[in-house]
Amino acid sequence: MNRRQIIPPELRYTFQQFDKDFPTDDACLEQIKEQRFPGGVTVCYKCEKPRKHYRVKGRTAYACETCGNHIYPLAGTIFEKSSTKLRIWFHATYLMGSTRCGISAKQIQRETGVTYKCAWRIFTQIRKLMSDDDVLLGGGNSGGVEVDEAYFGGRRKNDSGRMLAGNKNRNTRVLAVVERKGSIVAKVKQELTMGAANNLVREFVLPKSTIFTDEAVIYDAYEKLKGMGYTHRRINHSQKVYVTGDVHTNTIDGFWSLVKRGIGGVYHSVSAKYLQGYLDEYAFRYNRRRSGNLIFPALLQRVSEMASRKPVSEAPKTETL
Ligand SMILES: [Zn+2]
Repeated sequence: MNRRQIIPPELRYTFQQFDKDFPTDDACLEQIKEQRFPGGVTVCYKCEKPRKHYRVKGRTAYACETCGNHIYPLAGTIFEKSSTKLRIWFHATYLMGSTRCGISAKQIQRETGVTYKCAWRIFTQIRKLMSDDDVLLGGGNSGGVEVDEAYFGGRRKNDSGRMLAGNKNRNTRVLAVVERKGSIVAKVKQELTMGAANNLVREFVLPKSTIFTDEAVIYDAYEKLKGMGYTHRRINHSQKVYVTGDVHTNTIDGFWSLVKRGIGGVYHSVSAKYLQGYLDEYAFRYNRRRSGNLIFPALLQRVSEMASRKPVSEAPKTETL
């Protein structure tokens, strides 16, 4: 049976369904194995021949029935070195993928019964899966992209974020680009410069896009992009002209308030160091806002996609966490 097919096509993926699909550690291991070896492990690297493999009891391994060579589907994944039960990892992944506003390590601790230290590690590892650095925004047919800057942890006008731990004297600066009715990328920046603004667009926005920004000096950079086929339109916030036809940054404003509300309400405080992780997490969910709670299957896919190219025939060394 191809276990990848157990994820239903409907948008609702309830906890009951999750519980049914993944009742045991074995079922979870089977899922990761099927993602990495669709249809099962069919070839033995050692024999260099098609071979049947069987599940090795007491290990997260499958063995060649002829030579006994072991295959470890978790090798290189975020689950590899953990002694925490695989089902707890899955449960935590489900939790993080099925709430709109994020979930704290504390909630993972409460719902799965692991220690706080362990919950925190699970939380940070799963968050590593949530990054969309491969998105491309805009292009000729899009409704335009908005670029905007935000300050986290400072006392800027209209800023509802709290002070960030370890960052008392300085704001943490973030630049984001969002396609209208599309996806978002948000990046922590050391400094908000024309160079930073320029690079963000060149990395994530397709030529022929219309770029909407406010009047900030850093966006002067986009005048230079006109020769590359980008169009630049500005809104004058300082004169309280927030919307002029389609020249606005309302889409990105919605994202800022979502993140600031979330950090205030769920995470209480966040250091500048972790802010990028939170931005990635919120953007990951935002970019999949129309896929119901199928974020969980998307996260599972990420587990195997991001697994390093480590040989799967090497036994993992387990850490005590
Ligand atoms: Zn073999």
